[in-house]
Amino acid sequence: MRIFFAIFTLALAAFVVAMVTNSDRPKDISMNENSEIDAYAAQRLQMVDRQIRRRGIQDSRVLKALEKVPRHLFVPPEELSSAYDDSPLPIGYKQTISQPYIVALMTEVLKLERGDKVLEIGTGSGYQAAILAELVDSVFSIEIVEALGRAAEDRLKRLGYGNVTVRIGDGYKGWIEESPFDAIIVTAAPETVPLPLLDQLADGGRMVIPVGAYVQELELLTKQDGRIHKKSIASVRFVPMVSEEGKESQP
Ligand code: SAH
Repeated sequence: MRIFFAIFTLALAAFVVAMVTNSDRPKDISMNENSEIDAYAAQRLQMVDRQIRRRGIQDSRVLKALEKVPRHLFVPPEELSSAYDDSPLPIGYKQTISQPYIVALMTEVLKLERGDKVLEIGTGSGYQAAILAELVDSVFSIEIVEALGRAAEDRLKRLGYGNVTVRIGDGYKGWIEESPFDAIIVTAAPETVPLPLLDQLADGGRMVIPVGAYVQELELLTKQDGRIHKKSIASVRFVPMVSEEGKESQP
């Protein structure tokens, strides 16, 4: 009996020593990486809860997409610590990645279905395109600043968004070869709604677009039996939609 007790005590002591030694070991690289990913995931959940859900966005597919897409990978390194803030952020070339709430609001009002074909004007960082790509089968996105468009295209490929096609060009003209679109989202503000975009909207289609020179109104346009119906959503501030001639080219 005593022998058994001694063996048991020894085994217990060995176990305790092993545990202590183990916890003293430096964390390996994969653990560091994991905890880093987790830190951002927690920030993302908090962003969706405080900035999006609390302000009335209810569509569970939209909320899930915002919880999933790693926004910190769409901002420049110097903005990393602000990636989940309640604001737009600079992405170079005098452009910005939109405030998370505005991304959520614009996405929700489009009432997207999986089979929808969506056109985005103003790829920017590619973040809005990634959110759309989580929700529909095919996304086409046009960016006028080549460097931004190419960088967004690479980023989206790397993150596995194979259902987004980026084109460098002037969004005023739309993307006639791929039209009609079930939904169109414009993320730069024109002074009036570009007619080619209205033409390229499918019947039953929805378009969300900020319209105006300085103070802009976010409008939801729906096409029903060839007629356009307009609804005002909110007052917003977007970067202006520029034409080929007037485009900014300095980072
Ligand atoms: N949706 C982007 C943010 C857009 S910022 C994101 O999720 O990050 C607006 C973008 O529209 C800028 O990148 C700007 O270069 C682009 N833009 C402005 N005028 C344009 C035009 N005529 N055609 C296409 N893109 C345009």
